[in-house]
Amino acid sequence: MHAVSDAAVYTGRAAVRAGVLVTGTEVLTGIISDRNGPWLSEQLRDLGVDVAMIEVVGDRPADLLTALRHMAAEGVAVIVTSGGLGPTADDLTAEVVGEYSGREMVLDEALEERIFEILKPLIPRWANADPAAVRAANRKQAVIPEGATVLEPKGTAPGLVVPPLEGAVGPTVVVLPGPPRELMPMWRDAVLTDAFQSAIVGATVYRREILRLYGIPEAAISATLRAADEAGIRLAELEITTCLRRGELEISTRFEPAAAADYDALLTFIDKHHGAHLFSRDGSTIDEQVAALLLADQTIALAESCTGGLLAARLTERAGSSAYVLGGAVVYSNAAKSEMVGVEPELIAAHGAVSVEVARALADGARSRFGASVGVGITGIAGPGGGTPEKPVGLVCFSVSYAPAGTAAAERVLTRSTQLPGDRAAVRDRATTVAMHLIERLLQGDSD
Ligand code: ATP
Ligand code: MG
Repeated sequence: MHAVSDAAVYTGRAAVRAGVLVTGTEVLTGIISDRNGPWLSEQLRDLGVDVAMIEVVGDRPADLLTALRHMAAEGVAVIVTSGGLGPTADDLTAEVVGEYSGREMVLDEALEERIFEILKPLIPRWANADPAAVRAANRKQAVIPEGATVLEPKGTAPGLVVPPLEGAVGPTVVVLPGPPRELMPMWRDAVLTDAFQSAIVGATVYRREILRLYGIPEAAISATLRAADEAGIRLAELEITTCLRRGELEISTRFEPAAAADYDALLTFIDKHHGAHLFSRDGSTIDEQVAALLLADQTIALAESCTGGLLAARLTERAGSSAYVLGGAVVYSNAAKSEMVGVEPELIAAHGAVSVEVARALADGARSRFGASVGVGITGIAGPGGGTPEKPVGLVCFSVSYAPAGTAAAERVLTRSTQLPGDRAAVRDRATTVAMHLIERLLQGDSD
């Protein structure tokens, strides 16, 4: 659920370019989804390096070599590889990069010793581990292209920064391990090496700003950008990408510091046209904003039907959420709605389980059962079945209510009924976003 519209990309000038080469048959075949490519792409972008391509190849050395040559032929200054640095025979990236760069493979004995120091305490934990075999397998990880800069292991595998041979023209290859928890910290080390810094000399330093809007279609922003252009704001100096993400619109802008005045003018323009929908000027997410508001001495409780606990999961994703999340009930059946949060069966009979009246009762019920200051009720039809002409699939009713903890009657309430687009998963996910925005508005003092 991440759409970038081509129409809304205003491109600036050419920059230093890079390629990202993700290796691993499990990634190629879709058994695991690639987390490293997109992450590296974003990191490179922040350094002012444009990612020209992300390629995924399996664990075949010939495919790896072909991909390296292809990227070099496209004129990239840097190639970052992920994966294939382990001790096993199918981990061949270092060797292939050595071959590609025309560098001899040499054993770095000091590195071998450092890897062994990491392994030693682990060996007793492996059943039947033969220390000699372990040592031999890991000697392989210390065999590196001559002249490469070593990146110290975050697990057991060292990474590498491999520049082109003296006098040769070509990209510098940064070789990183596959597990994201090793790759990410090692990337930070790689960036600091002289070899990497010399490769990206000439990269422009950019500023990046993110705006977030809610409750506005992407077409409206496209029109506003055209109007801004016509009003004389120099959009060519700004690289603007608009992106729909979980029911919100994100506007990401990258620009050279010299274009700061153009960005400020654009921000003022968007604010003037869409101020009511612009909920984040500093890139902060709705989740961060709701967490900050709740942390200021509020507590929250939920009664969820069609979202089945997804809002509870979203709120508790954040470390420290125990300070304000008291609990939630998944009240899928009518009986559960009545028994767990005290919704009157007559109310359900009169209005139906999916109704603003029941949403309202769920919010108040959750608030009072858990003794929270904020209560949230969600009830809807996620589909694909269960829709009727009056209550079609995608209809979701929300209510959020506020009262100081321990007070029965709500002081402020926001209740909404919304028709959400998409399939079952999209409706359920989007419903959590709608609820987050209602919670924020309630906490900022809004009421019906
Ligand atoms: P290891 O020493 O664990 O073998 P490695 O550098 O050889 O590390 P791979 O063998 O390619 O890396 O991958 C090891 C594991 O790391 C994979 O099974 C997978 O769980 C994770 N991983 C690798 N590449 C990716 C990726 N692109 N995105 C997400 N996870 C990945
Ligand atoms: Mg491996």
